[in-house]
Amino acid sequence: MKNNIKLGRVAGVIVELNWTVLAIAALVTLSVAGGILPAAAPGYQATQYVVGGVAAALALLASILVHELGHALVAQRNGVKVERISLWAFGGVAQMESEAETPRSEFLIAGIGPAISLILGLALIYPASVVGGLFGAVLGWLASINIILAVFNLIPGAPLDGGRLLHAWLWKRHGDRARATATTTKAGRLVGTGLIGLGIVQFVTGGAGGLWTALIGWFLRGAATAEGSYSTIRRELQGVRVRDVMTTAGPPEGDWMSVAAFIDRRVIPDQRPVYFLTGIDETPTRLVALPALAAVPSNERNTTSVRSVAQGLDELPAVQANEPASDLFTKLSPGALTVVWDGSRPVGTINVAQLGTALEQVRLLSNLRGEAPAAA
Ligand SMILES: [Zn+2]
Repeated sequence: MKNNIKLGRVAGVIVELNWTVLAIAALVTLSVAGGILPAAAPGYQATQYVVGGVAAALALLASILVHELGHALVAQRNGVKVERISLWAFGGVAQMESEAETPRSEFLIAGIGPAISLILGLALIYPASVVGGLFGAVLGWLASINIILAVFNLIPGAPLDGGRLLHAWLWKRHGDRARATATTTKAGRLVGTGLIGLGIVQFVTGGAGGLWTALIGWFLRGAATAEGSYSTIRRELQGVRVRDVMTTAGPPEGDWMSVAAFIDRRVIPDQRPVYFLTGIDETPTRLVALPALAAVPSNERNTTSVRSVAQGLDELPAVQANEPASDLFTKLSPGALTVVWDGSRPVGTINVAQLGTALEQVRLLSNLRGEAPAAA
């Protein structure tokens, strides 16, 4: 993802930082160094407060990271793959590639995050009081922020951890996952609206922090809505595989031909949008798409090799033909062509537009069959 700085890997999970985090870290440093520390531990020099503020901001990021790592590790133990953890302005996200398979796994995956934050917060209270002074004040702030983090995340609306806990409980209770999703999506939107309202009241009565509260509410509302529709799409595309929605490529062709010869021999008879090209050893290594061929001026088509306008398959994103089509929503990037592989053999391509068309077809078919549309 662009705008993200990769920090490294923990237990196979990529940890990355969005640039927006730096702005938040700066804000935290300012407010801790400029107000909280001088009030909690008076009598130090300004530079010491700044150092304390920076330490507090870094420790906060580390706390959020530990919370997200908890989600990621428990998810992996429960068969849910986590590709990366991203830290950004509104906290952290452990990006899961699928949903939990049972209410129990969902409960464990969601519950571990707030549990870690709460334990961390409570565990810091005693050392903070023993150490005292400036360092003690930093520890005390860290204790309270971790407890706040735990409590905020336990608010029962999607996509917060509390929303997932509620989802797991409703799912287990009624045995109906879709119904549970509908409820937690509504709850999430309600929580978001509530925070927007609270933020506005806060702002009007003179608290500049109200803007931040409202922004978080606005973000939560959007995320709850997105999660609701994403989970609907997953259900609608149940049983549909990548191979069912991809563009199938014809037999591969040697890459030594000129563009003119390639158009005559393959494009005009086949009329496909993409072709795989083989080198000397007949293994497909490149892909050429119609726009690249059409971009070669007609007076240069005899002297331009098709190889020179093709893209290497190793440069393009890849998915497997047997994967569920709903996984593509997190894997395809807009505007980019993704190569579909059947094991080690490229068999076709897929893009976001095709996936949208497939979804449309599924919806129309279920309409024709007179099925009720899935609840959002
Ligand atoms: Zn969490």
